[in-house]
Amino acid sequence: MALCQKAGWLILASALAVHAAEFPVRHAHWRKACAGIMTVDAAGVRFAGPAPHAWAWKLEDIQQLELAPDFIRVVTYESGRLPLEPDRGYTFTGRIPAAELAAALAPRMDRRLVLEMAQPIGAYAWSVPVKQLSRNGGSQGTLAFGAEGVAYRTPARDRSRTWRYADIQTFSSAGAFELSIVTREKDFHFQLKQPIDEARYNQLWLQIEQKNRRIEP
Ligand SMILES: [Zn+2]
Repeated sequence: MALCQKAGWLILASALAVHAAEFPVRHAHWRKACAGIMTVDAAGVRFAGPAPHAWAWKLEDIQQLELAPDFIRVVTYESGRLPLEPDRGYTFTGRIPAAELAAALAPRMDRRLVLEMAQPIGAYAWSVPVKQLSRNGGSQGTLAFGAEGVAYRTPARDRSRTWRYADIQTFSSAGAFELSIVTREKDFHFQLKQPIDEARYNQLWLQIEQKNRRIEP
């Protein structure tokens, strides 16, 4: 395919305004990788690599799609080959047009879309420097709350995230220096470097609950 030779990626838009992105990626294997073309559009996600490494997943057949500027990971509903093995996932690396894909996929995939990057998400209302607590070392960055959601921005590789408020299952705090955000992907615990006061916390909590229609505006 001619697109293989292009270093960048191409965004195509049809008259129906269904955006498609086509870009070269490498499919990660245990030891090596194969090269191919990934296409993402309203129909789903396709990878065309050397046979038999070619797949087409409809969006409804994708259990979780992890998106970052340098990789895409598709977790399917196919069971692993061994008992208790997680459902099968496919990882592709390259220069991913992640922001464009996020905008196109967010309304179609909801909580199944995991944005492993910090995106602008409405005008920022408040931000706080934090440490994300994690068993494998944690990371430091900034939590920024906007009109539509919250972004965690960190230089640590693959640790940044963006959540729309509607993607947040639980938002809680056990004290002025602590925030927890529970998403479909996992639980995130943040140690705050500056305190969050009660009025601010209540305002954010209310906003999240309203976006999730757990309470009436
Ligand atoms: Zn492959």
